[in-house]
Amino acid sequence: MGRKLQRIVEAAIIERIGPVTAQDLMAMSDDSWGLIRDQITDRRNGKDGLVARCLACECEVYIRTSKTRGIARPLFQHYNGSDPDCPWFQGRNIKPDAARAAQYQGKQESNFHRLMCELVGELAALDSRYIKHTVGQYRSPTENEHGRYPDTYVEWDDFGPFVVEFQMSGTFQTEISARCKHYEREGIPLLWILFGLDTATALPQSFIDVIRRHRGNAFVLDQAAVAASREQKTLVLSCYLRKPDGRLDAPKLVRFDALTVPRSKIPYHEDRIVGSRLAEIEKVRRPWFNALAQWEDRYKPLRDLARPQSLLLAAAFSIVAATNGKGRNYASEHSNISAMLNTYLSTKVLSPYSDLLKQIIENTRSSSIIKASVHDHLRRYRDAIQATNESPEWILLRKLLPEALDPVLREELAYLDALPDWANPTSE
Ligand SMILES: [Zn+2]
Repeated sequence: MGRKLQRIVEAAIIERIGPVTAQDLMAMSDDSWGLIRDQITDRRNGKDGLVARCLACECEVYIRTSKTRGIARPLFQHYNGSDPDCPWFQGRNIKPDAARAAQYQGKQESNFHRLMCELVGELAALDSRYIKHTVGQYRSPTENEHGRYPDTYVEWDDFGPFVVEFQMSGTFQTEISARCKHYEREGIPLLWILFGLDTATALPQSFIDVIRRHRGNAFVLDQAAVAASREQKTLVLSCYLRKPDGRLDAPKLVRFDALTVPRSKIPYHEDRIVGSRLAEIEKVRRPWFNALAQWEDRYKPLRDLARPQSLLLAAAFSIVAATNGKGRNYASEHSNISAMLNTYLSTKVLSPYSDLLKQIIENTRSSSIIKASVHDHLRRYRDAIQATNESPEWILLRKLLPEALDPVLREELAYLDALPDWANPTSE
């Protein structure tokens, strides 16, 4: 007995509206989909209206209604005479053919992909700064390596060029990375637009990765974004912001030209990764800065630390303060921190912490402020027994100055191009 296939047209591209998934359609108000349905029918009858095409086969589709428990729900449906090989065709009960279905899966993605790329170009062209755009065209690099075929490349006057790439469900992580790095080197902003984002289910890893690169922002070109683009005559996107639990907030409409473009050239509307992380660290650190500012009698404990630990903490925070040009010395009356460090090393107070201090200096911009004599003192007065990264002092400082001492956080921040200048030994 043949199993009855339940095929639906999962997505269509509607003229002037853009891509609409079966899910989008069902989420619309009755008036919204009703008006679209009317216009599709009008057009079919030779009047003004809208053309809607199946994303798999590009044949025209209309909106029919199907009643479930007495409620009419809209669905896309192929017109008679459409391609019977379309995997979403519902005309007759053909046997599923896995190979053909897979082939169509590929075709559907490439058709859809091209239509979306063209749509981005069309919307970008509404902007008065528009100069030109290309779709899928080779661009040679300015540097000595391979060029790329950006999905959509746009040039705007006063804004410069930018590139839009579509993230399909199967885009490989290595490909994403290669493109990100390429455009970063070329100095061209790169925006990834996600297709098939379903906030009701767990996100595929490839989406999670791209969202992270965009600092917790997921960009989608849905019908609301297409309508807003036409209204504002510039490229507008729907932006979902990542919440602390990893789920996504309801989308906001954001203009492309209002996005922040960091050094990594991957734009974002609101930083949902770095900003909150750094703010949390600042909150942990703040009481210690306050305690240090009021620590006048250096023979008294700083908070509840013993004297060597108190001085270590004061010295470490002084090194960090020096990187900001404030030059505040919390540990002694010396006018510069090199003199302070040399004194506490030669008197052996900080000698068990030579390795730790060396690590802080190496991982901060202070490396250029610290005098050569300090490096001599770190070596000469180094105790044989050193605090290690498992010692309580090291653990405490790693918690308070993770930008300098937590290798995982440093990697993350460097990857996002968000390592603060003070914790970057190579920054100017
Ligand atoms: Zn079709």
